[in-house]
Amino acid sequence: MRYFGAIFLTLFVTGVATANTAQPNSEQTVVLISIDGFRHDYIELHGAPNIAKIAQQGIRAEGLIPVYPSKTFPNHLSIVTGQYPSNHGIVDNNFYDTERKQHYKMGDGVQDSTWLTTLPIWNLAEFQGVKAATFFWPESEARINGRTASYYYKYSTPTPNRQRIDQIVQWLKLPKAARPRLVTGYFSVVDTMGHRFGPEAPQVGKAVQHVDQLIGELWQRLQTEVDEPVNLILVSDHGMSQIKAEAMIDYSAFNIDEQLFEVVNGATRLMIYAHESTTTEQINVLKQRLQAAKNGQYWLETEAQLAQLGVTETARKPAIILGTKAPAIFTSRPPEKRKDGGTHGYHSNRDMDGIFIAAGPAIKAKAPLQRFSNIHIYPFMAQLLGLELLSPIDGDAKVLAPLLKQD
Ligand SMILES: [Zn+2]
Repeated sequence: MRYFGAIFLTLFVTGVATANTAQPNSEQTVVLISIDGFRHDYIELHGAPNIAKIAQQGIRAEGLIPVYPSKTFPNHLSIVTGQYPSNHGIVDNNFYDTERKQHYKMGDGVQDSTWLTTLPIWNLAEFQGVKAATFFWPESEARINGRTASYYYKYSTPTPNRQRIDQIVQWLKLPKAARPRLVTGYFSVVDTMGHRFGPEAPQVGKAVQHVDQLIGELWQRLQTEVDEPVNLILVSDHGMSQIKAEAMIDYSAFNIDEQLFEVVNGATRLMIYAHESTTTEQINVLKQRLQAAKNGQYWLETEAQLAQLGVTETARKPAIILGTKAPAIFTSRPPEKRKDGGTHGYHSNRDMDGIFIAAGPAIKAKAPLQRFSNIHIYPFMAQLLGLELLSPIDGDAKVLAPLLKQD
C-alpha cells in the first residue's frame, strides 16, 4: 500500500509542476552575439543605427565591464560561465601552467578541454535537455565532459559573416525536436580593425557599420521568419584603447634570466613565471630590480590588487605580473617595427568597457542600466532559459534579474 501511495504522490507532484511551467511561450530562446572589441561608445562614435534601434526596443547598459585581463578569451569564457578567469581556467589568451608544465594558447581547449575548469552555458543547457548551437565562440568546440553543443562549427576567420546570420536563422526554423533554444554567434572584424588602426579610425567605422547591417538583418529575420519567442543579447568582450609606438616598453632590456624565469608577454601585461627550482629569494631579487627600474612606465601588481581583480592562487598565476596603461604596451620589437594602433587587456577603465544590449519578449525595457561586470550575464541567460545552475559561480543572478519580465 505504501508503495502505491508513493507512486501516486510522485505523479501528483509532477502534474502540478508541469502545469506551472508548461504555459504557451514560456520556453524562451536566447541568441547571444558577441562583437569582439566593440567599445561601449562605438554606436554613437561610428554610427550603428540598427544596433541603436534594438537597444531602444530593449535595454542597453552604460557599459559592460570586462574581467581582468580585458582580453578576448578570458572574457568570452567569463560571459558563458559566470566565473572569473582563475575559476574558468582561461586566465589569458596565452599563459603557462606551472603544474602541467604546458603553455596554453587561444583555442587549445578544442584539443584538450581540461584547460577549461567549468561548464559553459551551452553544456549547462544540453545537460538539462535544452539544445544549443554555436556559430563560433571562443572554445565552443571543446568537448567538455564528453559533450559539445548539438550544433557547432570549427572556427575559421574567413567564414563569411552573412553565412553566420543565415545559419542562426536556419537553426531557429528547425522542427521543435531539433531546434536549439540557445544560439551563439561571433564577429571578429571590429576588433581586427581596432588593433590595426586604433579605435577612432574610419576603418573601424566601416567594420562597425558592416556588423551593424548584419545585426539589423538578423533582428528583422528573427521577427518575420521565426515563430518562437527569441531574445537577442548583444555583447562585446572588451573595448579598445589607442596605443603609441613611442610609448612602448622594451622588456628585453629587463634582462630576465631564462634559467630562472619564463616570460609570457600579454602586451598589456608581462607575466613572469618562476621555474620549479627558482627560490623565493631569487623571485624577490628580480622584483626589487624591476621596482627600481620602472621609471613610471609600469607597475608590479600587488597581491591585494590581484585578489581584488578576482585572481586567485592557481598554477596559472605568474610569480610576478607587470602592468601598464595605454598608450603603452610591452614589446620586444625593435623601434622601427613598432606601430601605433589599438589594443585591450588593461585594467578595467572606461575605454575597456564593451556593450550589453538585450531585447525580446522576456526582457523588460529598463533605463538606465548601469555598467556591470560580464560575469552576471551567465545566470541571467540561465534564468531566461529556465536552467538550474549546477554549481556555485562568481556572477550574481540578482544583478540582471530586474530585466526579466515576470509572467
Ligand atoms: Zn583583440
